[in-house]
Amino acid sequence: MGLKVTSIKIDPYINVDAGTMNPKEHGEVYVLDDGGEADLDLGNYERYLNITLSRSNNITLGKIYQRVIEKERRGDYLGKTVQVVPHVTGEIEKWIKDVAKAPVDDTGEEPDVCIIELGGTIGDIEGMAFVEALTELRRNCAREDFMQIHVSYIPVVHGEQKSKPTQMAIKAVRSAGLIPDLIACRCEWPLEKGTTDKIARFCQVPDGHVLAVRDMPSTYQVPMLLDEQNLNELMTSTLQLDRIPRSAELLEKGARIWQHWKRLAIDIEYAREEVEIVLVGKYLEQPDSYLSVIRSLEHASMWCGRKLKVKYVDAEALEPAMKTKDGAAHFSAWRDLVTAQGILVPGGFGTRGTEGMIAAARHARENKIPYLGICLGMQIAVVEFARDICQIPLPQATSYEFDGTDDDRLIIVMLEHHPGQLGGTMRLGLRPTYWQPDTEWSKLRALYGLKNESINERHRHRYEVNPKYIEQLHDAGLTFIGKDEKGERMEIIELKDHPWFVGVQFHPEYISRVLQPSKPYLGFIAASAGILDQVTNGEKGLNGGYKGLNGVSSIATGLVNGESAAF
Ligand code: GLN
Repeated sequence: MGLKVTSIKIDPYINVDAGTMNPKEHGEVYVLDDGGEADLDLGNYERYLNITLSRSNNITLGKIYQRVIEKERRGDYLGKTVQVVPHVTGEIEKWIKDVAKAPVDDTGEEPDVCIIELGGTIGDIEGMAFVEALTELRRNCAREDFMQIHVSYIPVVHGEQKSKPTQMAIKAVRSAGLIPDLIACRCEWPLEKGTTDKIARFCQVPDGHVLAVRDMPSTYQVPMLLDEQNLNELMTSTLQLDRIPRSAELLEKGARIWQHWKRLAIDIEYAREEVEIVLVGKYLEQPDSYLSVIRSLEHASMWCGRKLKVKYVDAEALEPAMKTKDGAAHFSAWRDLVTAQGILVPGGFGTRGTEGMIAAARHARENKIPYLGICLGMQIAVVEFARDICQIPLPQATSYEFDGTDDDRLIIVMLEHHPGQLGGTMRLGLRPTYWQPDTEWSKLRALYGLKNESINERHRHRYEVNPKYIEQLHDAGLTFIGKDEKGERMEIIELKDHPWFVGVQFHPEYISRVLQPSKPYLGFIAASAGILDQVTNGEKGLNGGYKGLNGVSSIATGLVNGESAAF
């Protein structure tokens, strides 16, 4: 639509940020450029809107209370009784107004629209202050400056679509002072007209203001589903968007992105060939633990014109001890591993499962199966190589994280980032990595673009490769092709004589975008699909791979040359 859009995610819990939360409970912890550790929805907004958010775009009750209590201790309230209304709610409203104005895209300009997502469910005790604050915000805004979309779920019981839970929720939200302009109904199946009509009538919204948001084959098709139901027109009329001046350049860019997006989302449904990846992880009970990793694999697969198939393998099941404990699980984990086209070991914390990950890295290295190690996955690959090729014995050939009884470990703790407090103390956020001399052969570097001397990626780790062992590892063939600005911190490993064996200390998944896939993931998927050379040379498009509008591979050229392309 040619508009500049930002977003705020509100999480009503008392944690100050998501940094100390277990991914098994809450899904992945998302990391922002500024090092903010945020709810994974910030990732959805960054990816969908192609924007760069900051830690302030994720508001929690903990953050608000922290600010209010700091003010109270300073004496800012001048002897007043500090209360939820108006002090906490006022702080929320002020925070929203400030953050909504911060530029988030490459125009560097103030956004036109801010999407605020209030997490949780209406009626949650923790969410009350936020509901009240949004009510105040609505009251203080011109009518056309505030639009409320209520997201509800329509269960289907014995084939009957039930609208009652939505009616009750709307009643609750109205009595709290918020009046929905639009109701978005989530459902597994297409909603019957009778159901949406009934919701419109009982919830007092005009006809056509109830959107049916059914499950789609992929989330990339959801924007098209909403477009079919005139969401743009509804927003334009409610928010009077026509009054916002829009540059011809942004309008043209928006139209181009929309065309690219539609092509990509449809093309991938017709892709004939698959690429099968095994993810060797430890938080498999909660599928959202690896959300950005999966999204990045999807972006890369769409680029390569391959349908992505991910098999999750529990790292512990690969360990020898599992043979006697649960032979069937052990056998099936190994069967999946040995039949995979590519093996990925993602980030993680703690000792559990790490011997299984080491076994997976060894299998990939020895059998020339493409391997991508992210953060912990890179440390795992270094430990494996040290044990097998450099003959560095245990207990040295491990991480301090797994055995902290002595400092002499292959992977050590970064002291300056570990002052004994766990919240917000890792090496976090966007940091540069410099390509090292004589690494022009690197397959990964070719994708990032040879002419760049450094790259920027987001980090989240507490441990690093021990400089004491670097020379020995390097001489044995494990090249540290990327290091930090001082050359002290090992950022990227790559094996030369391997189709794709790459480990990165950073998390490239946090800046992967639908139309601009992350390079480590792109190389990994392309190598797994056997088309790495074509992708690197920009002649992608094999078997229906995405070629851009009119078959011109405009974005492809930009991408492989390391330039920021169409998006
Ligand atoms: N646990 C490892 C570290 O802190 C890896 C972290 C990660 O994978 N995000 O260094």
